[in-house]
Amino acid sequence: MLVIEKVEKMAAVSRKLRGGGKTIGFVPTMGYLHEGHLSLVGLSKAQADVTVVSIFVNPTQFGPNEDLGRYPRDAEGDLKKCKDSGVDVVFFPDAAGMYPEGYCTYVDVGRVSEGLCGASRPGHFRGVATVVAKLFNIVKPDRAFFGQKDFQQTVVIRRMVRDLNMDVEVVIGPTMREPDGLAMSSRNVYLAPAERAAATRLYAALSAAKGLYSSGERDAGRLKARVQEVLAEEPLIRPEYVEAVDNDMRTAETAGGDTVIAVAARVGSTRLIDNLPLLNG
Ligand code: AMP
Repeated sequence: MLVIEKVEKMAAVSRKLRGGGKTIGFVPTMGYLHEGHLSLVGLSKAQADVTVVSIFVNPTQFGPNEDLGRYPRDAEGDLKKCKDSGVDVVFFPDAAGMYPEGYCTYVDVGRVSEGLCGASRPGHFRGVATVVAKLFNIVKPDRAFFGQKDFQQTVVIRRMVRDLNMDVEVVIGPTMREPDGLAMSSRNVYLAPAERAAATRLYAALSAAKGLYSSGERDAGRLKARVQEVLAEEPLIRPEYVEAVDNDMRTAETAGGDTVIAVAARVGSTRLIDNLPLLNG
């Protein structure tokens, strides 16, 4: 397994791989890897000749009062997990390499970035789109793999790729969960034991809405109300939003096969997100 820190070196390795006819699969991450990330590595290995994982805690996607400074890191553990999972190349740039002195170019994806997490985290998706665009230019993947866990992010990336004619196929992998349903997340490590127990309510609430949908309820307002009801049973949870949207981030009034129920909530001081497609979720 190759570990590359320099942007120019990564670009050169990718150029050579593509020149040699190899297809490149790419899994961008912020590290502190778990089974969610590794499931995307598995998809990439099945669908590309060479798998590149990037590990970069991207400063431009964090707001001034967010957790950039304390975001969990474990370089050694991550490299071991990558190696054990058969990753071919780990790209591990530093902030100065990605955003050198004088850096001033950003990618702003419009409407689909504006609601939900975009509303509560101003500038977040601008940072995400910018770093993913940069990583695509450096790594030059044929296919890039993203998790359903970050649903709005998948919509933003797909929109950016389409709007800017990027020559990358975006593949979305399913959300990996703990046995009790909690969506795996690097941020789960912040949760105190009581908060960790409370956090299972997020998936329970989404599942309750899905259950209602399965029994015939189509009114999105009532499905969202069901989610809020289940969340309200747990005092440690403070919901930020509960929304029903389609795959293009349009608000659903009537739920259908493409409706996704998405939730963000504080559990203690930790902000968690989760979502469930009402069909095939
Ligand atoms: P992150 O390191 O949190 O930026 O995530 C890197 C990639 O892994 C993103 O495409 C995420 O959507 C994806 N990911 C994170 N958690 C999960 C999960 N529980 N299941 C599937 N994919 C995930």
